[in-house]
Order: sequence, then C-alpha cells, then structure tokens
Amino acid sequence: MNKTQFSKFVEYLLKNNNVIAPQYNVEAKLIIAELKKTSDFYMGTELPLDSWKWFLLPPKQKMFDYKGEKMTEALPSVKKQIFLGVSILDMQALTLLNQIFEQDPYYQEIKKNTIIIGTSHMPKDNFSEYFAKFEENKLEHLQFDIFLAVQNGGYKIYTGSEDGQRFLDNFKYKDYKHVEYAGPIREEGLDLQMVSVMDGMQNFHDQKIWDDLGKRCISCGKCTIACPTCFCFRMFDKSHLEQGSGERNRCWDSCFYNEFTQVAGVAPSAPKHRLMATTAQKIYFWYEHHFVRTPGTYSLPGCVECGRCTRACPADIDIFQTQRDILAARNKKKEK
Ligand code: SF4
Ligand code: SF4
Repeated sequence: MNKTQFSKFVEYLLKNNNVIAPQYNVEAKLIIAELKKTSDFYMGTELPLDSWKWFLLPPKQKMFDYKGEKMTEALPSVKKQIFLGVSILDMQALTLLNQIFEQDPYYQEIKKNTIIIGTSHMPKDNFSEYFAKFEENKLEHLQFDIFLAVQNGGYKIYTGSEDGQRFLDNFKYKDYKHVEYAGPIREEGLDLQMVSVMDGMQNFHDQKIWDDLGKRCISCGKCTIACPTCFCFRMFDKSHLEQGSGERNRCWDSCFYNEFTQVAGVAPSAPKHRLMATTAQKIYFWYEHHFVRTPGTYSLPGCVECGRCTRACPADIDIFQTQRDILAARNKKKEK
C-alpha cells in the first residue's frame, strides 16, 4: 500500500469509526487520543509516553452495582474502537495483557470491540535483539487485526484476523497476506538477554543494586502508570443513599504506594502492617514482577523494553542501566 492509498485508508476508517491514534497535541506532546482528521495522525518511530492500556484497561471502571443481596454486573458499554499505529512493542504488551486478562469480563468486553492496526515502526535505541528488527515470523505470536510493515515508500500489509480482512475487503484492497495466530509463545522462548536478567535476579542477587535504587526512588508510581504491561488495580466501594445499595469499582494502583501492600494483621518484620517496608523492597518487587514473575507465569517477557518508565521517572532511574547492573553482578558472581 503506498502512502496515498494509506491516507485514503485512514480517511475510510475515520468515516464510520472511533479511531484512536498517536498525534501531537497543542503543546507539541505526542499523545494517544481520538483522531479527528487524517493529517493529525503521527506515524513514526517515536513512542507516546502514554500507552494503549488507557483504552483497554481504563484507570477506573465500575464492576457491579449491589442492592441488598443482589449484584448486577456493570460491563462497560463500548463503541467499536480502532487502535491505529500500534508499535510492535505495544502489540507485544497488548498480547501479554490479553493473556493476563483472559478471564476478565470487563477487559474482554472492551477488547472484543477493539481493532488493532499495528506497525513495524519502533524507536531506534535500547532494544534487545528480539525487537531490533521486524521479521515476519514475529507476527504469528502477536494478536492484531491489520499490520503495516514499513517498506520503501509504503507498507506491506498483513492481516491477523477476519475482522482485519473484512476492513480491507470493504476498502477494496486485496494485496495483503494473512498470518494465522499461533499463540503468544515463540518456539525459541524468551530472548537471551531477558533470560539472563531473570537468572541474575533469581540466582545472583546483589542487594547493593536495590539499596542504591531505593535511595533514589521517590515512590511516585509514575513508572507504573507509564508502563504498558503494569496492570495492578485495587477495588473500592461507593455507597448509595438508599440503604444496602452501592457499587464496586476498580482503579489502577501502584506497588510503589504504601497502601498497596497494607494488610490487616501483623505482617512479618514490616512496620505499620505493610508487606514491603522500604523503597528498596518496592523497587525490587517491581523489577521482579517484570523480569521474574511474569515470564515465569506466562512464558512471555514482562517488559517490552519501550523505555517509558525511564522517560517518566523523575529520579532518572534507567531500566536499561539496571538491567546492565544486574547482568554485571551476575557475571561477576559467576566468575568467582
Ligand atoms: S521498559 Fe519500562 S515501561 Fe516499558 S515495558 Fe519495560 S518496565 Fe514497562
Ligand atoms: S518513576 Fe522512578 S521515582 Fe517514581 S516510583 Fe518509579 S522508579 Fe521510583
């Protein structure tokens, strides 16, 4: 598809759909928001600081209403939405969220009304080998509807679902190749660097790394908001005036907040009934989530190396530097 055809395709999508896409706002900041006109669409290598999770896993969601003993599920009412211009890194993050929230009716209700149009554009720096370049066989492990592989002056088009094919057929574009989804896990497993970081954290723990980070981190939680794979939430109730009635909601939470691990009883060796008492413990827990628990549970990387956490961090904590520190400590201990 050449650039002119592609502009017409975006216009076609805009005619009848709610299209969400990267674009610059009035402050020249790249954001993801509803696209009003084709010329506003940003298609390039820069990643917006916010991720697509805002539209799939909204920061606050009602779960159910209750009245006496009766509960009524409050599934989100969603218009069909198209995510246009999802980078391959964010496709990886969405594929992971799809696994994590596979049984979650609220997430699934939004997902089934969402069309993903991905691109092979990605930032140039700081990527492990897996993400370094686009290869066709990566697509069979990602969940998407249409994919635009950047090539000389245009895009090679792939479809990953019947919905994607339908959009292109209705647009009367036939030159696409279909990729059958083969599940999220690649035959070759996690990339080697990620396996090494996991091994470093599990088997070659170096407390100094975490104590140093704990001194710098201010527990603001910005990294968890920016991260496309962070998904923790907490629940809260709101009572209505009528007796015995109210609603249950959930909202994003962060493992950096003190309340996150607050417990009712006496927690072992933690003051004020918290399971994580120090900032060093919190930041370790966050890394452990991305590099140990998620790959251990889902056989998928818990970090897609988008660098958003580093960009968001007011304390200049660089996730890529931390990975290098973990690997250096691992190598040093292995040599002994
Ligand atoms: S680089 Fe940071 S923000 Fe991006 S996926 Fe990894 S942990 Fe999350
Ligand atoms: S953004 Fe930086 S300072 Fe804030 S919680 Fe995350 S690591 Fe700590």
